[in-house]
Amino acid sequence: MTETHKNYIAGEWRGSESASRNLNPSDTNDLVGLYAQASAADVEAAVAAARAAFPTWSRTTPLERHDILARIAAEMTARRDELGDLLAREEGKTLPEAIGEVSRAALTFDFFAGEALRIPGEKFGSLRPGVDVEVTREGVGVVGVIAPWNFPLVIPSWKIAPALCYGNCIIFKPAELVTASAHKLAEIIVRAGVPAGVFNLVMGRGSVVGQAMLDHPRIDALTFTGSVATGRKVAEACTARMRKFQLEMGGKNPLIVLDDADLKTAVEVAVNGAYFSTGQRCTASSRLIVTKGVYGRFADALAERMRALTVDDARKPGVHIGPVVDDGQLQQDLSYVEIGKGEGATLKLGGERLNRATPGFYMAPALFVDADNDMRIAREEIFGPVATMIPARDYDHALALANDTEFGLCGGICTTSLKYASHYKRNAEVGMAMVNLPTAGVDYHAPFGGRKGSSLGAREQGRYAVEFYTTVKTAYTMA
Ligand code: NAD
Repeated sequence: MTETHKNYIAGEWRGSESASRNLNPSDTNDLVGLYAQASAADVEAAVAAARAAFPTWSRTTPLERHDILARIAAEMTARRDELGDLLAREEGKTLPEAIGEVSRAALTFDFFAGEALRIPGEKFGSLRPGVDVEVTREGVGVVGVIAPWNFPLVIPSWKIAPALCYGNCIIFKPAELVTASAHKLAEIIVRAGVPAGVFNLVMGRGSVVGQAMLDHPRIDALTFTGSVATGRKVAEACTARMRKFQLEMGGKNPLIVLDDADLKTAVEVAVNGAYFSTGQRCTASSRLIVTKGVYGRFADALAERMRALTVDDARKPGVHIGPVVDDGQLQQDLSYVEIGKGEGATLKLGGERLNRATPGFYMAPALFVDADNDMRIAREEIFGPVATMIPARDYDHALALANDTEFGLCGGICTTSLKYASHYKRNAEVGMAMVNLPTAGVDYHAPFGGRKGSSLGAREQGRYAVEFYTTVKTAYTMA
């Protein structure tokens, strides 16, 4: 009989009445495991434990927190290949991508181990004689972490590591599809010596566990990454409770290719940004905006490069693109291919379901050309291996098209012109701008986030994370 992996609440592993089946999207005959489904009562118990743990945990020394975070980083690094294999098996990104994700997650814990020793503060001279003014930062309290499925380890890590670093307690709800990586991460965190109540894992449905977190009056702050629709619910619930929150949501990220771009570089940047990780990245280059002097040559070169991509089992050596994460997402991707055709865009390549040796959710990467920026395939996030090429008259037109979107996460430009690169960096309405680099792929120590409909609240990652996970106190002393 397959064992059910339990939730971790108040310092103990707890079972539940029901379990969810975690299936391998490369081979649906492969059961990755059974995972306990938490209830609203489990969330209640987790919050109570976290509240009880906060006064002691928030007063631990920076060194104690450093050591725990460093131990988590060390174990993740040592088990990189094993954790990467599990991640690829449950989510469907290729093995090198999955192992890379584990490394980045480990580096994130390592970074915040260091940050625990560098918690910033300031001292001001006062307007009044003999008075000192000190500005310090304290943890906000109990932090709810709600994560998506597309980066099963790295997104939880870039939330959990700073939360622990600054002395917060955590209720972690992973996405339903990627409980295996979340469970492994929880085991590692527990083994590193986090006291009971400080870290709690509650796996289960968004509508049950996630909603119970939104409704809970004693969670002090909520960090969320996921879709715009769910983000809106998080914002409404948090606003109603006057609670701090942070949202990272969707994107419709443009990559501009100018006539003067190095064609080979532009094709690699586009293939990587649009199709790697099966296009399931919030930073994916789903709109390719190409000026007319290079349009035809770029489309042909990109299509030729795409024909050399292998789509197969995520864990097979040499595979470039794994399966789509599940049947629901695959149906959404395929339906957008039909929508694009119906809107009058030309499907140059791909877009069909593929059969492989094992039953999985395989799809040929799709390229639409001659699309209009007003089409649904250019405006709505598809979240799959589908890119839409849009012609532009010149740089100014390309920039206007790039900015004509309700999203603002990431954007890129391929050009050899310093003038256009500089102008683009200044005028792109995005949180992250890339020059001659894929829109997807960021450094773990630099701020991550967007603007417009993509993000709300403080930035994630690096030193900027301190804004969300701490609250500032200004103390006045008369000596
Ligand atoms: P989703 O919104 O469906 O789910 C995200 C999380 O919210 C899951 O854990 C889910 O269980 C939970 N949830 C669902 N309903 C809830 C509710 N009523 N209350 C509380 N929680 C609830 O998103 P997804 O399908 O897991 O992820 C894909 C989306 O995430 C895409 O839109 C993608 O662009 C976005 N994303 C954004 C970033 C970023 O940093 N901007 C990064 C990765 C993914």
